[in-house]
Order: sequence, then C-alpha cells, then structure tokens
Amino acid sequence: MIDDDDWEVDIMNCEKCETALDPAETYEHGGRTLCEDCYIELKAVVKTCDPWAVHTAKGFKGGQPILTPVQERIMDLLRREGPITAEEACGKLKITESEFHNHFASLRHMELARGFNKDGESRYTLFGE
Ligand SMILES: [Zn+2]
Repeated sequence: MIDDDDWEVDIMNCEKCETALDPAETYEHGGRTLCEDCYIELKAVVKTCDPWAVHTAKGFKGGQPILTPVQERIMDLLRREGPITAEEACGKLKITESEFHNHFASLRHMELARGFNKDGESRYTLFGE
C-alpha cells in the first residue's frame, strides 16, 4: 500500500543544485531550501569574507601594515635618510611630487610617517622621530 500523494509532497529539491532532499535534512539559507552541501558552501563564503575584512582593518592599526611597493620605498628612504624634503624624495624614488604626496598621505594616515616644517620648508620623517 503506497500512498502516492503523500510521497510526492515530501519530495523537495535543493534550490541551488537541484539534488533531491531528505525532508529531515534540509537547510534554510536566505529564504531558500538547500541541501547540506550547498548550505555549507554558502556559509563558507560568508566566513571567508569576514577574516579578510578584519585583516584589512588591522593593516591600519598596529601590527604589520600593508604597504604598496612605493610606500615601502618611501619608508625605506625615511629610515635611511630622513628627514627629507619632497623634492629629495621624488628625485631618489623617481616619482612625481603629487605621487609622493598621495602615498605620503596614506603613510601619515597609518601613523608611520609625518611631515613637519623646518626653516619654512616641509620635511618628511618617520612618525616616531
Ligand atoms: Zn544543493
């Protein structure tokens, strides 16, 4: 004795991969009914996004800041020869003054470097000096 109607009602398919689902093992995600595999997959996407956001935010507050190659070179120059003027920096790094100012703004924002005025001339040095 098989009741066809009841059997039909119980069949569900994963809304993502279309796999037939066991009604006892369905997962809800964003209003969709999913199989375990798709549910885990979607959860994993959310999880891998989060640490990256945290990682990026950390780059600006202590720890190991993430610098672009040009910013690394500016920092290097400041460590070896600072304080320097923008003109000196541009000459040594082969970048334009506006490039220097853009990169330097990021370094200052990260509290790695700072500018100051000496004898009416802007100079740039490491933040802690
Ligand atoms: Zn699925």
